[in-house]
Amino acid sequence: MTAVAEYAIREDVQAFLRGTKKLLIDGNWVDAASGRTFPTYDPATGERLVEVAHGEATDIDKAVRAARRAFDTGPWPSMKPNERERMLWRVGDILSERAEEFGQLEALDNGKSAGIATAVDVAWSADIFRYYAGWATKIEGSTINVSMPFAPGGEFHAYTLREPVGVCGLIVPWNFPLLMAAFKLAPALATGNTVILKPAEQTPLTALLLGEVFQEAGIPPGVVNIVTGFGDAGAALSGHDEVDKIAFTGSTEVGKKIVDAAKGNLKKVSLELGGKSPNVVFADADFDIAVPGSLNAWLFNHGQCCVAGTRLFVEDKIFDDFTGAVAEAASQVKIGPGLDPTTQLGPLVSQEQFDKVTGYLRDGLADGARALTGGKRFGDKGYFVEPTVFVDVRPEFSIVREEIFGPVVTALPFSADSGVAAAANDSMYGLAAGIWTRDISKAHRTAKQLKAGSVWVNQYNGFDTAMPFGGYKQSGWGRELGATAIDLYTQTKSVNIAL
Ligand code: NAP
Ligand code: MG
Repeated sequence: MTAVAEYAIREDVQAFLRGTKKLLIDGNWVDAASGRTFPTYDPATGERLVEVAHGEATDIDKAVRAARRAFDTGPWPSMKPNERERMLWRVGDILSERAEEFGQLEALDNGKSAGIATAVDVAWSADIFRYYAGWATKIEGSTINVSMPFAPGGEFHAYTLREPVGVCGLIVPWNFPLLMAAFKLAPALATGNTVILKPAEQTPLTALLLGEVFQEAGIPPGVVNIVTGFGDAGAALSGHDEVDKIAFTGSTEVGKKIVDAAKGNLKKVSLELGGKSPNVVFADADFDIAVPGSLNAWLFNHGQCCVAGTRLFVEDKIFDDFTGAVAEAASQVKIGPGLDPTTQLGPLVSQEQFDKVTGYLRDGLADGARALTGGKRFGDKGYFVEPTVFVDVRPEFSIVREEIFGPVVTALPFSADSGVAAAANDSMYGLAAGIWTRDISKAHRTAKQLKAGSVWVNQYNGFDTAMPFGGYKQSGWGRELGATAIDLYTQTKSVNIAL
């Protein structure tokens, strides 16, 4: 493996990494009130990248006041929708123009491949801003022909208005730092809300660069505020009485804390939480597409995906052949730093995540699982873990039940007679599922049986900006993306006029 320093860091990225990164509050880049900073690291080397302002409750309060003012006194919510549309479209275009700069910065901060970050995280974020830019001019209420039985003889004109919720706190994780911010920022802003974004402590950098893009696109001061910091900053945001809504992506554990914190002023809450998604391979699947597809299902982004298909259910007739082929493909994956253009699998995001994942590897082996490939760390530097395929697992093993968030899959056989739905649905989560079969009836039938917010057939990670995304059971509340995200950031007012 080669050290990251051997790969060229772009000049614009080097320039961004000079000095201390500040908070964006009310259109100004400011230090934290305490003057404190914290470092963000390159997971490929464990070396420090840059110091970032350490925002806390005081800074969150300042940001919330700025967002409140920007919402209550405008111009953002009262601006013509096509003006908001133009600015958000511009954000998407700037992201496209600066895709490689964003991609490399994401790779440095998160550890993922710069090429994948550019092609997936940044390109999709740009698409999301353009998609919701288009929505700004298409938010409609309806007219309702009311009967009013208790007002006989009256004449009425009744209609609904769709209005922004107000000040929105957006709290995002480290696995797709820019993209998860885009999921929330684009619909929140298109509908006229003002926001405070709290990036994950491990990966604050692309959010801050995006802050510069918002300024360049002409978004007025106070509309987008960015406060970098730790969990206490997120807690201050979710407990703040002047915040009208929290949109959160992260762990189910913290999601429940958000719900508790939101009780004070009963702010609206939407949650995108963890998963332990089943990926079901029937014996009649097209082997040649199902093997790489199933590998992508659990290994994409180093397994650090809420939707990762980490419970691989394979029909017993092909179990040994299929799991063997997946393990063989996994053992061929090129592991290395994100800046190496040939890298397919980068390091995990942090020491903490590395310890957690290697702990699960030990637990799995101690429980009696067998690793067809992998099972330990890769190399002796950085947070690299070998892709690991476990067989001989039982449903009660922690590696089968709990979200590992690393490059680890557990494979379980099923028989055509007993079916797969009960085992696949045996989870507190319900975020996504995969199905591989050539039988179209079986595909539709199984898609109906699986308790998951997204079901992908003969593919995995089949996302689109226009398709709703979210979780059944403890995987979340609400649906992001598509038209359903407009519901998350608007509220309906019924107006009834006696004529
Ligand atoms: P996390 O703790 O849920 O963090 C997500 C975000 O919430 C971060 O911005 C975090 O800030 C913030 N936060 C932490 N404590 C908070 C609180 N009490 N109130 C409000 N916000 C708070 O996730 P993590 O620690 O990064 O990862 C832990 C596990 O969560 C992972 O191993 C994985 O299983 C799961 N996870 C799931 C997803 C997903 O997309 N579903 C994404 C990431 C992680 P800090 O970064 O400063 O802590
Ligand atoms: Mg980092």
